[in-house]
Amino acid sequence: MILKSKALFLTLLFFVCSAVTIYAHEVFYNPATSSSVALRWQDKTTSYLNVPTNGDYLNSTYTSVYSNAVSAWNGSPYVKASSTGFGSSKVDFATPTTNFWQQTFPNYSDYITILGITFIYDTNSAQISTYSTAFNSTRKIKSAQIYITPLSNNQTATQRTQTLTHEMGHAIGLGHSDNSSYAPIASSTQSIMRTSGPLNYYTPQTHENNDLKAMYGF
Ligand SMILES: [Zn+2]
Repeated sequence: MILKSKALFLTLLFFVCSAVTIYAHEVFYNPATSSSVALRWQDKTTSYLNVPTNGDYLNSTYTSVYSNAVSAWNGSPYVKASSTGFGSSKVDFATPTTNFWQQTFPNYSDYITILGITFIYDTNSAQISTYSTAFNSTRKIKSAQIYITPLSNNQTATQRTQTLTHEMGHAIGLGHSDNSSYAPIASSTQSIMRTSGPLNYYTPQTHENNDLKAMYGF
């Protein structure tokens, strides 16, 4: 009886450990409990993620750089991104109205400074937007909607490309690589998933490729 309980305990421990194994910079991290939720892009093969995207609903400022972001991710050995029709795409980019942007970011400084936001959905079409909803989700990302600021803010074409590429990284399960509360990368490490520091990396870097390799077991 005691042995049986012990075996059960070990089995449970194994599953708990498996469930919380952290391989990389996850999208949702809870500093209070030092734990992450491992969200993974569902559409994949044994060697890469399949990411069909659509940019039909971007404004002209961003349609001009949309294909650059798709190409940027295709530069990763672990991602096959494509541009496809709305309906067969799984990552949809759009420029919302200023009203939508105001409602999403009621704080004025957020409203004017945030360049993009990614809404991710699990395989039950439930939106994952907080640590708690991530924790209770299927943890498999089926689709994402990426909204880009409708404000014109003098971003260069390369900066606009960077925004789309960075947000697409969230869609496939990558969190911020410089999150100060969770294993931030060195200040010298190049990464498209940074939020600050040297933001001159316009394509996925070795850091992102290593994260994807570890997270998906490629
Ligand atoms: Zn981000």
